[in-house]
Amino acid sequence: MANRHSDDTSPLHPDTLSVHAGRAIDTDTGAVTPPIHMSTTFQRDADGDYSRGHVYARHSNPTRSQLENCLARLEGGAGAMAFASGSAATMAVLQLLRPGDHVLLTEDCYHGTRHQLDTIFRPWGIECTRVDTSDTDAVATAFRPRTRLLWIESPSNPLQRVSDLDALAELARARDVITACDNTVATPVFQSPLRHGIDLVVHSTTKFLGGHSDLLGGAVIHREGFPLAGALRNIQTAGGAVPAAFDCWLLLRSISSLGVRVRAQAATAVSLAHRLDCHPEVSAVFHPMHPGHPHHERARACMPGGSGLLSFTVRGGGDVARRIAVETRLFTRATSLGGVESLIEHRASIEGPGTRTPDNLLRLSVGLEHGDDLWRDLDGAITRASR
Ligand SMILES: *Cc1c(COP(=O)(O)O)cnc(C)c1O
Repeated sequence: MANRHSDDTSPLHPDTLSVHAGRAIDTDTGAVTPPIHMSTTFQRDADGDYSRGHVYARHSNPTRSQLENCLARLEGGAGAMAFASGSAATMAVLQLLRPGDHVLLTEDCYHGTRHQLDTIFRPWGIECTRVDTSDTDAVATAFRPRTRLLWIESPSNPLQRVSDLDALAELARARDVITACDNTVATPVFQSPLRHGIDLVVHSTTKFLGGHSDLLGGAVIHREGFPLAGALRNIQTAGGAVPAAFDCWLLLRSISSLGVRVRAQAATAVSLAHRLDCHPEVSAVFHPMHPGHPHHERARACMPGGSGLLSFTVRGGGDVARRIAVETRLFTRATSLGGVESLIEHRASIEGPGTRTPDNLLRLSVGLEHGDDLWRDLDGAITRASR
């Protein structure tokens, strides 16, 4: 296998890395598209060594290694670990903690992350506090002597608050606290947390990176010199929550078109946000690239484009919101985000009891359909549901 860029160290644009990084021309056949290596085990050399680098597929597999190299380059990291889901990637980071440790996490972060901390890690003696990480001062006062991890999701979900990653990384570094940023929503196309001094980037690759709602995956990417990189690799390979070779291959295939997809999705999301903002039945719109957003300026600086995700609230309340999700035709009523097809979701319903998400809020994941068609669908549904 020959890496296409083995002797090229000049920085490449993310769009180029998306197509080339980690990929290799198959030296045996010349295949341009990498083969899928399904083998779970690899031949030992006559002298007992494994000079070709792979032993057993839980530890590494050529297809997974290609994906991990691609993800590391895309995020500007020193290494990446692929997992069977975004939740498994989150678990791996949390498993770096010890009983007695304390975690600070974004108040409206992905509800599954909070759920893991509450139901799995609290019984292991790990405390956590939710804080609005878009408010740097609030974070500064929330650290405790045993705080070990600052978990940031930016933009947050569903309120799309944007955190100042530079400032948070500095606060954490001064206190010897690990920083992790869930970059699932912004993607490396719009935000590069490691370049802002963050230690770890976490992805649910199920979303925009996978992009077609047909694979489940996750990843952790670490900065150069991250002292616990070996511990993380051990959690991945000894823990075994690794993705199948086929899913790695499918994900690499999807990442090739990441920039084109995500920029189109974000542009349509911004145009829908503007149109929704003018709708008489809509009370608020949440998208970082919408000029009315409280963190609009910060977002323009650190995540130009925002994402293909947006939320809005309706004047008619929760029942009208739920009816809108029934009335749309092009927006499918389903959870998840980042696929080529548009989705609509009443978030409070899926987050369940204890959620702080407003009952009159709907979240849209904008796909690759034409914005005019999406708007007609949405506008019609809002009008019918508000009658
Ligand atoms: C979906 C999601 C996750 C969890 O990922 P899975 O692949 O569903 O396990 C984590 N963080 C964010 C922001 C997500 O949207």
